[in-house]
Amino acid sequence: MHKAPSLSNNQLLEILSFSKEAMAIYTTQDIVIEMANDAMLAFWGRDKSIIGLPLETALPELKGQPFIGMLQKVLQTGITDSGLAIPAELLIDGELQTSYFDYEYRAIKNELGETYCIFHTAADVTEKVLGMQAMELARKQETALYNEQALNEELAASNEELAAINEELNDLQEKLQSLNSELEERVNARTKELADSEARLRYMLADAPVAIAVFSGRDLVVESANKKVLEAWGKTDEIIGKPLHIGVPELVGQDFLTILDEVFTSSQPFYGNEVRALIEQNGVIEEVYSNFVYHPLKDDAGSTTSIMLVANVVTEQVKARKVIEESEQRFRFMLNAIPQQVWTATPDGALDYVNDVICADFGDSTAEIVGNGWQKYIHPEDLPKALIHWRNALETGTEYLVEFRLLFADGSYKWHLARALPFVEDGQIKSWIGTNTNIDVQKENEQKKDEFISIASHELKTPLTSVKAFNQLMSRTNDPEKLTKYISKSAEHITKLEKLITDLLDVTKINAGKMNYTMQAFDFTAMVKESIDNVQHGTNTHQIVLEQADAIEYHGDHFRLEQVMNNFLTNAIKYSPEGNQVLVNCKLENNNIIVSVKDFGVGIEEHSLDKLFDRYYRVDNTAMRFEGLGLGLFISSEILKRHQGSFWLESELGKGSTFYFRLPIEMQDDAKTIINTNDLYQDESIVISYDAANARVDVDWRGFQDLASVQNGGARIIAFLKRHQCTKACNDNTNVLGTWSEAVDWAGKEFFPMLEEAGLKHLAWIYPDSVFNKLSAKKTVDIAQGGIVTQFFTDLGLARNWLDSK
Ligand code: ADP
Repeated sequence: MHKAPSLSNNQLLEILSFSKEAMAIYTTQDIVIEMANDAMLAFWGRDKSIIGLPLETALPELKGQPFIGMLQKVLQTGITDSGLAIPAELLIDGELQTSYFDYEYRAIKNELGETYCIFHTAADVTEKVLGMQAMELARKQETALYNEQALNEELAASNEELAAINEELNDLQEKLQSLNSELEERVNARTKELADSEARLRYMLADAPVAIAVFSGRDLVVESANKKVLEAWGKTDEIIGKPLHIGVPELVGQDFLTILDEVFTSSQPFYGNEVRALIEQNGVIEEVYSNFVYHPLKDDAGSTTSIMLVANVVTEQVKARKVIEESEQRFRFMLNAIPQQVWTATPDGALDYVNDVICADFGDSTAEIVGNGWQKYIHPEDLPKALIHWRNALETGTEYLVEFRLLFADGSYKWHLARALPFVEDGQIKSWIGTNTNIDVQKENEQKKDEFISIASHELKTPLTSVKAFNQLMSRTNDPEKLTKYISKSAEHITKLEKLITDLLDVTKINAGKMNYTMQAFDFTAMVKESIDNVQHGTNTHQIVLEQADAIEYHGDHFRLEQVMNNFLTNAIKYSPEGNQVLVNCKLENNNIIVSVKDFGVGIEEHSLDKLFDRYYRVDNTAMRFEGLGLGLFISSEILKRHQGSFWLESELGKGSTFYFRLPIEMQDDAKTIINTNDLYQDESIVISYDAANARVDVDWRGFQDLASVQNGGARIIAFLKRHQCTKACNDNTNVLGTWSEAVDWAGKEFFPMLEEAGLKHLAWIYPDSVFNKLSAKKTVDIAQGGIVTQFFTDLGLARNWLDSK
């Protein structure tokens, strides 16, 4: 087999054009003339300009003739059509002439069998036909000779008809002519228009406000680049004609060249949004941001030959936005870094932002808080005032400043100072920015201070008034005897005043946490004796008797503990005006110094006892109130607490009181376990046993207790309840010494819920006839919430009976 000579399409067409046989190629349903050789053009009486036009446009005279329809049919059906001596009316030299053709419309198909063009060949057989027609005519004339007479008439009529037709034809021809020239004009106008618009387009692109460039070939030669592109690149039009990586070398190493290469490969456009490019402008590398598209430009075969860049430089906008975003972020960060509550509200006062602190404080999400608004969180008593202030601020556009209590997640209210200012821009309020500062501690301190000042001034006033009165009396008398009496009376009050001032200073120190202690070893018994001697010195109405004094070495603040002793002793004398004795005991018990001061005076009524207990029962009682109370016990209790000690009292109205204080000799380690079995636990401060017969846990607390011993014993009780799945417990406090008030808060708030959780349902509580003990038990049960049924007893037997009946 010979290989076919490879000719290009153009060559083939050129060769065909030389053919004497008339040929034409049509495509599409419009029957566009793709090709027509000279012979065909001669048939048509047209020149090459008609190539590319639809046949109907090129040869308007074919309208009304069947050919175009036939060609369309061939294209549709794929069936080749041919015929012999077919007449066609063609406009030749301005005249419509009938010619005869042998023709073939050959359907040309691709591999898929689709007809994509028609190959039209034609041979002019007009002469042959006319010849045959002439022969026919002659033959007919011959016959006619026979009928000449008849025919003559007929002929005359026919001639007339013909003339009329001819006229009509001429008319038509004229019309066609004018149509033709009209068409020509239109084509010309259109071509000019196109050229104009192309020029306009070029001009527009050059000056376009968007950056446009075309890169051709894989080398990305800059074919064209408008002003905007050159400006963005910081280059001149010298780069045109150079590959991009040479014209704009700083692009090397950035992503763009790779992306362009990919566009070449994929022939898919690439869109970039706010992409950052580093471009050298005037010798400086600058950030340039742009939105752009790399659009592939394809040749007829569909492969990419060049890429068009259209870009919108948005550096300014992006940078401006970034600055805003950054400052916004910084702002948000700041708002959350502040330990205060920070919020913003709309100009009409609706809350629209709260910082994390607010969410944490309220235990709600931002959305919830913004939805709720402040109303839900401000204390109902403070709300009206806050609303009035807020409305006023909104109306006048002035600072909002108010104090209110806010409801925290734990259910407590905390005092806050709220402050908000309008944020004004262009003379208009854009938003409100507010802070709430927690001033709860300050508020409390303020309150305490106020109370303290009022009490202190009141207390100071009493002796001062007396001093003043005696001074007046002195000035009015000359009686030396009276004068001596007044002077000594006045001196007494001055001493009281002095003591009061010392006490007030001590309280101030305690409140400020500035009370200093000098801890050192000293002879405790000697200190007690010294103190008794001092107080005894100042009185001639009472006898202070030291009944028992164990020899004790103690480590602590000698001076402050002597102050406690003095306070107890002077109180004993003060509150037993009718009495004449004060009994003092100083014993060592279970590693504790126990000092008692007993008087036979007025005693304390129950109501005052409760008050006293309330003031002193907590270890960390910082919310101390002084109202109606002296300062002495407060100072004493603070001093004792600093020595891990405590105080309590027993009192009977009208019969006298005994004040006790306890100082542990050494810090107690964990209670030493003595017995520890399934049914019995014992250490120095507690005995726990399980009474299986009555399904009851029995607890016997012993000796002195403090927070540690109560917590340790508590944990053991829980273990017993769980181990025996027991619902009843008998809690015996008969053998407890002193007070355990420092454990009350823990017992109520934490231990009771633990007991309930362990399964306890019934609790019998036997307390001794000891005031502070009783009050501790009551207070615990008061604080505790939950479903444990608790009953107090003074008798163990009754307590057990009650439990066993449950
Ligand atoms: P004051 O300066 O009032 O004595 P204290 O703080 O020493 O202040 O005592 C507080 C209160 O305790 C007293 O006001 C008094 O009601 C009560 N009190 C203290 N000691 C005795 C006592 N020995 N007998 C009766 N009541 C006492």
